[in-house]
Amino acid sequence: MTAPRRTVEFLDLVGQHDRLHDQLDVAWKAVLASGYFVGGPEVAAFEAEFAAYCGAAHCVGVANGTDALELILTGLGIGPGDEVIVPANTFVATAEAVCTVGARPRFVDVAPDTLLIDPDLAAAAVTPRTAAIIAVHLFGQMADMPALRAVADRHGLALVEDAAQAHGARFAGVRAGSAGAAAAFSFYPGKNLGALGDGGAVVTGDPALASRIRRLADHGRSPVDRHRHEVSGRNSRLDSLQAAVLRVKLSGLDDANRARAAVMRRYRTNLPVWCVPVTVAPAAQPVHHLAVVQVPDRAAVTAALDAAGIGWGVHYPVPCNRQPAFATYGERLPVVEAAADRILSLPIHPTLDHFQIDLVCDTVRGAQW
Ligand SMILES: *Cc1c(COP(=O)(O)O)cnc(C)c1O
Repeated sequence: MTAPRRTVEFLDLVGQHDRLHDQLDVAWKAVLASGYFVGGPEVAAFEAEFAAYCGAAHCVGVANGTDALELILTGLGIGPGDEVIVPANTFVATAEAVCTVGARPRFVDVAPDTLLIDPDLAAAAVTPRTAAIIAVHLFGQMADMPALRAVADRHGLALVEDAAQAHGARFAGVRAGSAGAAAAFSFYPGKNLGALGDGGAVVTGDPALASRIRRLADHGRSPVDRHRHEVSGRNSRLDSLQAAVLRVKLSGLDDANRARAAVMRRYRTNLPVWCVPVTVAPAAQPVHHLAVVQVPDRAAVTAALDAAGIGWGVHYPVPCNRQPAFATYGERLPVVEAAADRILSLPIHPTLDHFQIDLVCDTVRGAQW
């Protein structure tokens, strides 16, 4: 049974895949015929295409975005005794990866207009134990990488990108995936580039890091002798079926991102003045993974959206520094905590039409409080 469809879906995965039906059909029949289901030629082809798309030399397909972050940290030799600077405004996976490798997340606050990590606060959070900064490109907009690079270089830190929400985004002309030591991507279905299940990738320009991560993600296996396990690794690999689907969808990613940008432009023009989209920095070219606005009375707006059958979300209602899981590291951070009560994510996806966008804007405008 399928759930009743809303007038405006928050995320229209059914509609998105309907358009690709024939191409996907060809792709998975080819995988069935090939007999490769984990790794193999589809994965290798996707890795090469996605690395090129990001402007980086190497891509290693892994099982999901969280694994990609963990593998990068381990590949960089980060572990117990180290601290890693993480913006408090992110999906918990960023901080989880730090904890999983045995390091300590050091949460920092965000800028009030972009809601992205504030490079000055990142600089202020550096201690003698700091090993890395994870720049999270949240909602589709890249963090200020030149400013963060200056901080990282000054203190000899690794600069890692969490690009799970930023496939194709640019900052000062540089694409997500080629702006740091390594980038973690997620292909969770709802992301800008989504698989039909879990998937992820590490993208890097560093060949030695890429081969360490490839080895770690495949049971520590030697690249030349599959029965020789050089380190104790794990199993975190990309499936051939997912890679075949991702190849189809990668070819349409720029068009899909352009369609998202058009939706965002119409929101900016038609939303009431008190409903304020996050600011885009002058050097940023975002890919609008989420349409995040700040509103004075979220309950009133969401009640109006619910009544009209319009999907919505909140990313994220509880900042990482206030999550029970990270209570030990939970210093108070005023900007992210204040924003958490005002943020609202409106529907955004490549298949939204003008009628639907205007319905969202009119419904928001009609909210009573
Ligand atoms: C989705 C996401 C992740 C985790 O990706 P998974 O593939 O779900 O493990 C990490 N960081 C951010 C910012 C995300 O949005």
